[in-house]
Amino acid sequence: MSLLAESTSGMTHRACAAAILRMAGLRQTRQRVILAELLFSSAHRHVSAEELYQDALEADADLSLSTVYNTLKQFRQAGLLREIAIDSVCSYFDTDTSDHHHFFLEEKKQVIDIPAGAIAIDRLPSAPQGMTVTHVDDVVHVREQHA
Ligand SMILES: [Zn+2]
Repeated sequence: MSLLAESTSGMTHRACAAAILRMAGLRQTRQRVILAELLFSSAHRHVSAEELYQDALEADADLSLSTVYNTLKQFRQAGLLREIAIDSVCSYFDTDTSDHHHFFLEEKKQVIDIPAGAIAIDRLPSAPQGMTVTHVDDVVHVREQHA
């Protein structure tokens, strides 16, 4: 469920982005408002830091790639985004924070959703002592089938 859907009617994207930051308890900085606007103004998105940085450049926003990285981490910590780790170097950020899984299209470098109920997990190890499982986050890697 998008935070945006709860707060859109009649608001500009900018006001909406500001409202999202407020709800998440984040101070409003110029960079955060711009990036929130890019992330939450449309339907759910899966973006890498590099893709979001490109979007920011196209929107004429004067931001560095490291600012984009840091802001994405802050949004993740505030619960606005979910991080999908593809491998040790590549992460995508998902504006849909509900429980679900993902396909990773290796050639297109694209992430698409798998509904939570579409993967059944028969056997899960017990959590280490004193810990509880919060969620299971599967990434199914796929590639085009060549004849
Ligand atoms: Zn997703």
